Amino acid sequence: MNADRIMALSRAGVAVEVVEETGSTNADLLARAPRLTAPVLLVAEHQTAGRGRAGRSWLSEPGHSLTFSLAWRFAGGLRGLAGLPLAIGVALAETLGRLGQSVQLKWPNDVLKDGDKLAGILVETQVAADGAAWTIVGIGVNLVMPDALEDRIGRSAAAMPWLARMGRDELMATLLDGLAEALALFARDGFAAFVARWNTLHAWQGRPVVLLDRGEVQHEGLAAGVDDTGRLLLDTAAGRVTIVAGDVSLRTKD
Ligand code: ATP
Repeated sequence: MNADRIMALSRAGVAVEVVEETGSTNADLLARAPRLTAPVLLVAEHQTAGRGRAGRSWLSEPGHSLTFSLAWRFAGGLRGLAGLPLAIGVALAETLGRLGQSVQLKWPNDVLKDGDKLAGILVETQVAADGAAWTIVGIGVNLVMPDALEDRIGRSAAAMPWLARMGRDELMATLLDGLAEALALFARDGFAAFVARWNTLHAWQGRPVVLLDRGEVQHEGLAAGVDDTGRLLLDTAAGRVTIVAGDVSLRTKD
């Protein structure tokens, strides 16, 4: 992939860097956050130690996925950023939708295709000396899913071989534009601008689900979408409960 080409194809005005290989693009940008002065997109052709939530891993093989992180500054600091990972999911899903891929969202922020995970999102933050927050939005998107990689992941995973035929620089630039637009809107209007869009894309609306905390069932009920701060609404036998995204995992019951 070519950084200059991605920048030329994008409308976002964001600096772009492409590296052949790194451990984690999120880790790299987090380490640079104290010195950053403007948004930057870091793309890795090959990511060897991709991270998911709570120490989980994001696995990929060179040439078969897009792995990248976007550093973005929020002048107002951490306040109000709770729904950001979900807003990023909306931006990613809608951009893929415009490219002809029908995808859905699983709370809090996985992108699913035909029920399997197509993309993962990890948002990490660092507060700057002036009180602003740098958010590092890390994304891995499967383009092709070789059997050997799916075996390593240990569950079925989705890919989009049709979109994989599109030029990678063009695809990356299109995703960057969708994300930059969403980040600017989030900075202005917060998650309120995304809640209805998230609920429209919700993969498991009305379906029986269980919420797991370290493997233990914490709640079960019908998934009822998210509220205006991005909390999951679950209709249980004891009434409606709201769930904050911590280290909990959602699974379908059927
Ligand atoms: P869960 O999906 O279990 O609720 P999560 O949403 O927190 O967890 P993430 O932290 O976003 O998941 O992603 C890490 C998980 O994604 C891994 O534990 C693994 O199951 C799965 N995974 C890792 N690499 C891939 C990939 N390339 N494609 C699809 N799924 C993957």
